[in-house]
Parts: sequence; C-alpha cells; structure tokens
Amino acid sequence: MHNLTLAQQLQALAAGEFSSVELTQHYINRIESHQDSLNVFVTFTPERALEQAQEADQRGTDKPLLNGVPLALKDIFCTQGVKTSCASKMLDNFIAPYDATVVAKLQQAGAVSLGKTNMDEFAMGSSSESSYYGDVKNPWDLSRVPGGSSGGSAAAVAARLASASMGTDTGGSIRQPAAFCGITGLKPTYGRVSRYGMIAYASSLDQAGPFGLSALDCAYLLQAIAGYDAKDSTSVDQPVEEYTTNINKDIRGLRIGLPEEFFQEGLDADIRAKIDLACDQLRELGCVIKPISLPNAKLAIAAYYVIAPAECSSNLSRFDGVRFGYRCEDPVDLADLYSRSRSEAFGAEVKRRIMVGTYALSAGYYDAYYLRAQKIRRLISEDYQKAFAEVDVVLSPTTPTTAFKTNEKADDPITMYLSDIYTIGVNLAGLPGISIPVGFSQKLPVGMQMVSTYFAEDTLLRIAHQFQQHTDWHLQTPAKFE
Ligand code: GLN
Repeated sequence: MHNLTLAQQLQALAAGEFSSVELTQHYINRIESHQDSLNVFVTFTPERALEQAQEADQRGTDKPLLNGVPLALKDIFCTQGVKTSCASKMLDNFIAPYDATVVAKLQQAGAVSLGKTNMDEFAMGSSSESSYYGDVKNPWDLSRVPGGSSGGSAAAVAARLASASMGTDTGGSIRQPAAFCGITGLKPTYGRVSRYGMIAYASSLDQAGPFGLSALDCAYLLQAIAGYDAKDSTSVDQPVEEYTTNINKDIRGLRIGLPEEFFQEGLDADIRAKIDLACDQLRELGCVIKPISLPNAKLAIAAYYVIAPAECSSNLSRFDGVRFGYRCEDPVDLADLYSRSRSEAFGAEVKRRIMVGTYALSAGYYDAYYLRAQKIRRLISEDYQKAFAEVDVVLSPTTPTTAFKTNEKADDPITMYLSDIYTIGVNLAGLPGISIPVGFSQKLPVGMQMVSTYFAEDTLLRIAHQFQQHTDWHLQTPAKFE
C-alpha cells in the first residue's frame, strides 16, 4: 500500500480495495518501526488518526477530495487539542486552542492526520538539525540531513510513513528538503494558501505547501488547501484553478528559461549533468529551452538574511514568558522573567536571528540595512517579471549540492545559508516554485526547481506531471524503507 502514490490510494480506497482504517494502520505500523531511526515525528497521534479513518470509511457516496488518506503535518500548523511546538522548547507545552486554516481545510477534505513532524526550530534552518527534539535523518542515508526546515515532512514521505505531507517555505523549506529526500514539493504563490494558524517566522515570505511522491499528489493537496481566507489579510481573493484536471493539458510549446547565473561556480558538476538530462527530456516533450538572465540573483541571500530576521525579531517578540509557552522558574522581577524565559527556551539559531533582526531594524541602521534589502527585493522581483515576458517557467537545480552530512554545517551558519541560493529569490518575489526529483548523484537524490509567474501553479504542476509520466525518478524508494 505504501508504494502507491496518494492519487493511486484515493482510487483504491474508492474501489474498496482497502479501507482508510487499514491504510492508516499500515502507516502507523511503519511509523512505529522507523520513528527511532529517522526522528520524523514530534507528536504522533495514532488513536486520533484511526478515529478520523473510521469517519472517512463511514462517509457516504459524495466523498470529499482527500477522503481517508493519511497525512503528516509540519509542527508549525496549529492543531486544536494537539501539541504544536514549532520544534522549540518555548512551545514544548503549547496545546493549540484552534486549527490553522490549512489543518481545517485538510480535515474538511476528509484527510487523516498521523501527527506533527519535526523541523528546524521556528522554521529557521536548512537541515532540521536545530530542533529541540533532536535532528531528523535522511531516509536515503541516515548519516545525512533531510534538508530543512520542513525536514520531518519530507523524510516522512520519502520513507513512506505517510501518503503525503504539509510543509512551509520561507526561503526554500519545502523545495530544498524535497530535493534532498527525492520527492516532489510545491511552494505556492504568496497569498494562495492561508497563513492563519501557521506560526509566523517571516510573514511576508512564509507560505504553506504540499510534499508528495508525484506532482499529481501535490495537485490534490493544493486543490484542498488553496483559496481566500478572510482570517489572513494577505490571502488573495482569486479563483482556485482546477489543478488536478489542468495537469493533463499539453505542454508542447511552453518556454523554459535557464538563468545563466544559476549554472556557474558553486554548482556540483554531477547535479548540472542531471539537470541537462532533464532538460533534454523536456525538449522531447515539446518544451522550448533558452538561456535567460536574473542579474540580481546573487544578492538574494544577503537581502533575505536582513528581511527574514527583521520580521522574525518582531514575530517572536510574542514569546515573552507571559502569554505563551515556556516561563522560567522563580523570576525576581518582570525584566528577569522576560529575559530568562527567552534565553532559556530559544535555541542558538533563533537567538542569532532575533539579534540580527533587532539590529537591522534599530533607528541608526534601518536605512542602511532594512531599507536597502527591501530595494534589492524589488530588483529581484523585477528580474523575474522581465524573465516571464520571455518564458513561462524558470528552471534551475533546487540546491547546489545533494544532502550534506549531519553536523557538517551546523557550526557554520554562513555556509548553511548559502545552500538556499536558488530558492530564496523566489520567496522574495512571492512566486510559486516546485522541486521534482531528476536523478541521483552518488546514490543521493537530485532536485530540479521550476518557477512560474504568480498563480501559475497549474503550469508548474503540468510540466512536472508530464515529466513524471515519462520518468520514474519520483517512484524510487530508499532501500531501508521499501
Ligand atoms: N533555510 C532558510 C532559513 O533558514 C529558509 C527556511 C524556510 O524556508 N523556512 O531561513
């Protein structure tokens, strides 16, 4: 059962080949055998999952879109009555009193939730090593990271511990772990999916999206979660496309641009070779491939590491030991309560970013750092808009290397930041992007990123789907988890 895609499982469920309770129990057994080696879940809720599966099995003829498929949700989505920790000691005791819109929509669509997945603390990181609950392992090689920050959600799908999963992407946190784990991950356009109830990191960049084995699986999930939400003032009131049907439309004649800046030094030669082969395949399918330029792309990381920390320093000020989460023992006064609660409960990377952000926003430095970063952000968006006058999709590797070793970059934040070089500009511009597996380099998965203009997720899904109809990289299973 676990080697079927979500789309195939939905068909099998509808045909009565197995029930949702049987499918859910199968994943529960797999999670029980593999959780210790992968550390994918922060909170595993098997009883709740079986109740939801039973309800799914009892639903009549008019079944909702995702009826009965078991999912794993990043522990950043508030889930009523369930611990929602963002992998931080700060929220180790936080039981969410309400559901995030994404969670509510998945429930309305009939999906089952197996639990909440491990991640980098407050979604800050690229390796899922900064979690308060210990690091997550990559199912393809347990000595390597699964990527981050949504590493638990990506590893869960790669190891076949859930039909599909949900993550969030502020600078690459869906696409990069999808690439490292050899699965498909989609970051929608900013505003396409509600952020209500998603614990905020950098509010102008954060966006929720799906992980699945295939583009079609991601289309199903996006169909369920996309749409306007009055509870999120940045969600966009625009009709939702028919992702699951549009995915079959022809891709002949679509124009794909390769940014020359993304194929220069720093890119692993073998990854480049795999991308070249994937481009040949897309040419065979009728796409037209040509070079383009994103001249300001090299500035993306510098701009992001001013803007994201600035927003996080503001967002994380709510964790003050008074209203949510952790409170230190025996404070002598209010200042002591604030400062000790925060210093005892936040990890090193979170503290580093709060300090950088507070500095960048302070009166004397605002113009020099924050304002300049915002100007660069505009230039990066304009580069993409110019590119989309010439091409439908911008294509590149998702990451410059394959999954790195655990602890390899943990003490070197700058090298860690550089691993997001191809993904971060997409968030600064608010665009949608997808990562799909296109091969292996030394037995580790290689991911290819495609980016389209605003609200053209259906174009990305279509190209990815057609590619996956002619290749089987997305169906490879790590040996230990077959
Ligand atoms: N790796 C990036 C960071 O650490 C992106 C994280 C994300 O997308 N949440 O900020």
